[in-house]
Order: sequence, then C-alpha cells, then structure tokens
Amino acid sequence: MAIEQTLSIIKPDAVKKQIIGEIQTRIHQAKLDIIAIKMVKLTKEQAEGFYAEHQDKPFFANLVNFMMSGPIVVQVLQGENGVERYRQLMGPTDLSKAAAGTLRADFANSMRENAVHGSDSLASAEREIAYFFVDSEIFQ
Ligand code: UDP
Repeated sequence: MAIEQTLSIIKPDAVKKQIIGEIQTRIHQAKLDIIAIKMVKLTKEQAEGFYAEHQDKPFFANLVNFMMSGPIVVQVLQGENGVERYRQLMGPTDLSKAAAGTLRADFANSMRENAVHGSDSLASAEREIAYFFVDSEIFQ
C-alpha cells in the first residue's frame, strides 16, 4: 500500500479543551507519523481560503468564524494509505453517525465544532499541505 501524506487540523474547540496530546496519542496508535506541525490562529482570509469549496453553503460563515475563534494545530501526517486511514480515525462529519473510538465520536461538540479536520483525497491533501507548509518544514 502507498505511503501517503495528509493534512490534519486540531480545531479550536479541541485546542481549548487541552486535548492536543490525547488526539496525537490516537494518531500515533493508528501508526500515522506526525512529520510537520505548527500552532496558528487563522485570519478571516485564511479560514475562507482554506474552506473555499464550501463558500456557497449555508454553514460557511459560521464555519469561518469558528475556525478563527482560537488557535489551531496544523500537522502533516504520513503513513500507509494515510489519507483514508486518518479519515477513518476521525469518523464522519456528523458525529451522531460516528463510531465509538473515533476522534469525532469521542471529542466533537457538534456538527460544526467537530475537533479535527483531515484531507478527503490525495489531491486535497496536496493542496491543503501546501496551504500551511513549505517543503523545508516537512520532515519525512
Ligand atoms: N460543517 C458545519 N455544518 C455542516 C457541515 C459541515 O458546520 O452542516 C463544518 C464542520 O466543521 C466540517 C466542515 O464544515 O468539518 C467541513 O465540512 P466537510 O463536509 O468538508 O466535512 P469534513 O470533511 O470535515 O468531514
């Protein structure tokens, strides 16, 4: 199976709850390596740009406000089939459908405040990693 990189975000709700370490432990247990990491507070422009594909959705403005409401942790994960396996670890967007043991089932507050982000395809991963990191910040 291919080794893939994916973008992971620990969202403002989870950073406020001080569960960065707990989420990273789950990532390590899932055999995904953290190969780049930074804590940032998004500007409105950065949050809008990151979620540009959702700009016409009714939840867009609230999503942008939430994503800039506090610091986030952005990280690049690497592992076998990494994009899909991290999505499985996160669980679905709708936490009522998330299986116990997934990050969202265990840590999300709501459909919006759902603790974590993960790229949904290899193409998204490439775009999203480049949104936050230059090559010299990624340690393979
Ligand atoms: N979101 C929301 N309301 C919705 C759907 C999504 O606030 O009805 C937020 C939620 O934080 C989600 C993000 O928008 O994680 C991006 O939505 P997407 O459908 O891409 O879900 P994801 O890929 O994060 O599971």
